[in-house]
Amino acid sequence: MPEEIDVAIIGAGAAGLAAAIYAGRSGLKTVVFDSQMVGGQTATSPDIENYPGFESISGPELMDKFKKHALKYSEIREWVPVEKIEHHSEGFALKTGGGDVFAKKVILTTGAHHRKLGVPGEEEFGGKGVSYCATCDGFFFKGKKVLQVGGGNTALTEAIYLLDAGVDVTIVHRRDQLRAEKFLQDLYSKKGGKVIWDSVVKEFKGEGRLKSAMLLNKVTGQEMELEVEGAFIAVGIDPANELAKSLDVKLDESGYILTDMEQRTNVPGIFAAGDNSIGLRQVVSGAGGGAQAAISAHNDITHEDWSQ
Ligand code: NAP
Repeated sequence: MPEEIDVAIIGAGAAGLAAAIYAGRSGLKTVVFDSQMVGGQTATSPDIENYPGFESISGPELMDKFKKHALKYSEIREWVPVEKIEHHSEGFALKTGGGDVFAKKVILTTGAHHRKLGVPGEEEFGGKGVSYCATCDGFFFKGKKVLQVGGGNTALTEAIYLLDAGVDVTIVHRRDQLRAEKFLQDLYSKKGGKVIWDSVVKEFKGEGRLKSAMLLNKVTGQEMELEVEGAFIAVGIDPANELAKSLDVKLDESGYILTDMEQRTNVPGIFAAGDNSIGLRQVVSGAGGGAQAAISAHNDITHEDWSQ
């Protein structure tokens, strides 16, 4: 017999953990599953300065607070992937790395994956100089030359973190203007951060470890080989919606889950929130969406109980 629960939350980032607090507090038997550790993308952010109540806090510290809070009301199963979900009339059968579970409702808070550049050498030197997380790996590059690829909030936050860690970082951006918030741009330039404009990485080269990057200036057509020991890539995220697709949950043209104002998807009983769904991609909105999804799941379960 599968274990029976009220709500299965898939993904333990900000949205999933907020959902766990709300669902658990409303009396629902709630389990959060994550194929990795809790924290999601937020846990890789070196510094968060726009989560209300915390003028400045590191991503891992904030997510640790979310985790402790969620554990007061719900169970969290780290390193337990949800491999398959099947829709039944009374709910959902989940095949997980820790056994079979039957849940009345499912909240998808599966977040997003780092986007790759797709250039030669990126795979080969992954973990050997090429990284997608400066907070995780930046420490190893103190005093060394590295590139930060991308011009968004993540790239700037990570580049500032690297500068603070004593890493010799240069941003490579494909346009002549950064996408990141002005506050981050100003801080990066105040700290003496360098930028190579209008340029993309064509190839990563090395022997065993990364040694250089071939850059192409898109305006002049000039190529340049830059010696670097590390390259941090932050060129956006793609929603992690493999499970949603398998359940025929409707996605927009970019692959994000379409939800209504109450975080309901087109499939009754399935809710979604956070970076895998339409809307703002911030910790505060992920947490808000997770809370709303849990309230909607609770309302539906209560309503179904009344109508029996
Ligand atoms: P993003 O905002 O989509 O920025 C991606 C950056 O990578 C852009 O500068 C883009 O260039 C560049 N890029 C994309 N594909 C590329 C390619 N193939 N080669 C070279 N460059 C490429 O992604 P993000 O920075 O990861 O942020 C994701 C979301 O999280 C955003 O909504 C962001 O606001 C949010 N976020 C917020 C905070 C915060 O509030 N503190 C921190 C981190 C992330 P173009 O500019 O030319 O398009």
